[in-house]
Amino acid sequence: AVQNDPNTTLVTPTAPIANDTHGGRAKCLQRLVRLELPVPSTVAVSFNAVQQIARGQLPDVQAVVDQFPKGALLCVRPSSQDPDWGGPGAVLNIGINDALFENYAKTIGEGPAAALYSRFVQSYAVNVARLDPDMFDDVNGDGRAALMESLRAYEAETEERFPQDPATQLAAVLRSMARAWNGTSARLLRQAKGAPADAGLGLIVQEMAFGVGQGQCGSGVLQLVDSDTGLPQITGRYLSQSQGRDALEGDAAAMYLTRDPRGPSLEELVPEAFAELKEHAALMRKRLRAEMQVEFVIDQGKLHILDGVKVARSSRAAVRIAVALADEGIISREEALMRVQPRTLSELLHRQVDPSAKRDVIGRGIAASPGAATGRIVFSASDAQASAARGEPCILVRRETSPEDIRGMHAARAVLTERGGITSHAAVIGRGMGLPCVVGATNMRFIVTQRQIIAPDGRVFVEGDQITVDGSTGQVLAGAPQMQEAALDDTFTRLMGWAEDVADIGIRANADTPADAQTARNFNAHGIGLCRTEHMFFEPGRLTVMREMIFAESGEDRRAVLERLLPMQRDDFTQLFRIMQGQPVCIRLFDPPLHEFLPSDKAGQRELAEALGLQMSDVTRRVAAMTEYNPMLGLRGVRLGVTVPEIYEMQARAIFEATIEASRDGEPVVPEIMIPLVSARREVELVKASVDAVAAAVRSERDASFTYRLGVMVETPRACLRAEEIAPHCAFLSFGTNDLTQMTYGLSRDDAGRFMSNYVQQGVYPEDPFHVLDTDGVGELLQLGAERGRKAQPGITLSICGEHGGNPESIAFCRESGFDYVSCSPFRVPVARLAAAQLAI
Ligand code: PEP
Ligand code: MG
Repeated sequence: AVQNDPNTTLVTPTAPIANDTHGGRAKCLQRLVRLELPVPSTVAVSFNAVQQIARGQLPDVQAVVDQFPKGALLCVRPSSQDPDWGGPGAVLNIGINDALFENYAKTIGEGPAAALYSRFVQSYAVNVARLDPDMFDDVNGDGRAALMESLRAYEAETEERFPQDPATQLAAVLRSMARAWNGTSARLLRQAKGAPADAGLGLIVQEMAFGVGQGQCGSGVLQLVDSDTGLPQITGRYLSQSQGRDALEGDAAAMYLTRDPRGPSLEELVPEAFAELKEHAALMRKRLRAEMQVEFVIDQGKLHILDGVKVARSSRAAVRIAVALADEGIISREEALMRVQPRTLSELLHRQVDPSAKRDVIGRGIAASPGAATGRIVFSASDAQASAARGEPCILVRRETSPEDIRGMHAARAVLTERGGITSHAAVIGRGMGLPCVVGATNMRFIVTQRQIIAPDGRVFVEGDQITVDGSTGQVLAGAPQMQEAALDDTFTRLMGWAEDVADIGIRANADTPADAQTARNFNAHGIGLCRTEHMFFEPGRLTVMREMIFAESGEDRRAVLERLLPMQRDDFTQLFRIMQGQPVCIRLFDPPLHEFLPSDKAGQRELAEALGLQMSDVTRRVAAMTEYNPMLGLRGVRLGVTVPEIYEMQARAIFEATIEASRDGEPVVPEIMIPLVSARREVELVKASVDAVAAAVRSERDASFTYRLGVMVETPRACLRAEEIAPHCAFLSFGTNDLTQMTYGLSRDDAGRFMSNYVQQGVYPEDPFHVLDTDGVGELLQLGAERGRKAQPGITLSICGEHGGNPESIAFCRESGFDYVSCSPFRVPVARLAAAQLAI
């Protein structure tokens, strides 16, 4: 008997059924049976049995049929381990044949009986006999005549009589479903959803509750929350005289569930069954500890519960549902945290293209900064500013961006670039600002001189045309699709609070400006992990001063500029310290890759000539002289600090003076000063000596006392290898995984976008290593550096501050490596915090 065959198990409260032996649907049905809900009798066929069936070894199918009352009709539905992995479509009304049809015609009416039989014949023909569905196109109506036509069509095509024996029918259905699971397209589809190659399929054989016949009959679904908002609200569909998922078909004339002035409702039609349904749904929510969509059938006024699946939900609904269930004590806070995917949070933080909106995709690039925005195309920063001044939303389109574009980026709603990768200028700045950004859109042609971009299909978009940049997917869309607003509400804040309570690795933010710092503070970041001081000069008016400093030829000229820079920096730092209210602030000394700061066009050069009182020819000559073949490996970072020490001296002074200033009205501030791009111990010694000297000078000038922490940014492979001799001079090591990835792979962070998708597609890299930390290679360097650093200084603080700091997989790696914190763009702090919490649970 079935009870003794572990491969085919009658679903009872105690039967041995598990997700990984019989699938999620089987397990869920068992839970419903335990709750004593009116579930039709069900037999679960195990993964094992399905595998054997696919190989042609059938279980005792007659024994399965004998589990059900004589003359019952059956349905078979898939039960994969994770419902998201899909499975073959359900087959209904198995068991019906000519004789049963005549019987049912007498009890439920000829029309409904013919509908049952026709449905089975057609689905058997298509799914089991693999006949062309078109063959039934000429069958009209659904009475006896239509049934006969369907049977004739089947028999003409197969030259066989339609099988009459229920066990034969069931065996054939089981076999076809088992084989469909092994088909290539089904395999690829589920693997794309994260299923392992050997994912199992179970099958469910369930007695049909018809949904067609005399009295009130029909089928539908009901849930207790709105899928978009997550707020309590009974929603669903019901269709009279229907089966399966008919009520969900797009054009089905479905009925309202609850009373509605617009038309008849299930509630009015069968008030008792409806009340029972609501009660069952509430019980399922409570005991299955999830918001469920209930599949039900009303048969002659009587309610049957066929199944329950987790309700589909938007990102905001996911958060609200998890928090509500925890608030009601149905699940724990930890479980609520585990149920929200970190990625969904980033969708909540930004406006998004409405998931149901139609997308007219005209280009594709790297999803560099999440969120979506619509605007008219502009091709220069100044046009973006003009557009913003007119109150017209615009999208800034550039080959790539440089500091000259910052004003334009502030004015634009989104940025689209032809070049660049996940750590390119546009991407880093865009993420910092929370500005949607797609970079490296290499499948579009950018003819910037003619102010055009051309889609792969040849469509030309010119200045003023409206497009939408979706920085969450990397798509560029024509026109203005429907949008969904950001949804930061109380439930989000509460969930974040819970995450904070359990996470055991610190989350800081990369913040360069007071606005960034405020965002970081609002998201409760544990301080600033990286303030890129050169970014403080991206503001209008300041860029020129920065350039003057870089350009100064004599020490005297440079000192004059530095004197103007000092108060600006001091004010910047004072503001950061105040906003962060005693949280640590790690300030990185200047690291301007020169190519990002030299004026790239004539207009910029003219502006600089004016500011410096120079001739254009002088400026062009200087630019030419300073242009480097390989600026990312040139005179940047600590190399600038060592060769032109007065720059770092000015910055150190600004930091210490700000420290005194900000400590006046609050807790004493302990600034962290970080030296970028170190590759040799001596660099650290030189900078440390000079910073210490400035500290001593400021202390004595101001008669003040303060302390500070000096550390090194480890972003060259050599710094990792030599960490043991570098660490004794440092209070902390912070790994700059952007440059470290660039240098470990020998892969330009600004150019890799051109071929990255090709590389990932061909499986050369599993992922873009600028996006997800390469734990094998770069990760080994991190571990090595951490280990050697700790050996020299056991209590040294370790962290990463590259873009990987906001990536959940990379955070897992840092946590396992015993790092103290990760630092990421302010808008990624919530994502990182939730990921960190999940790792700690
Ligand atoms: C890094 O290299 O990882 C880093 C954080 O610095 P930047 O991106 O400014 O080079
Ligand atoms: Mg760097």
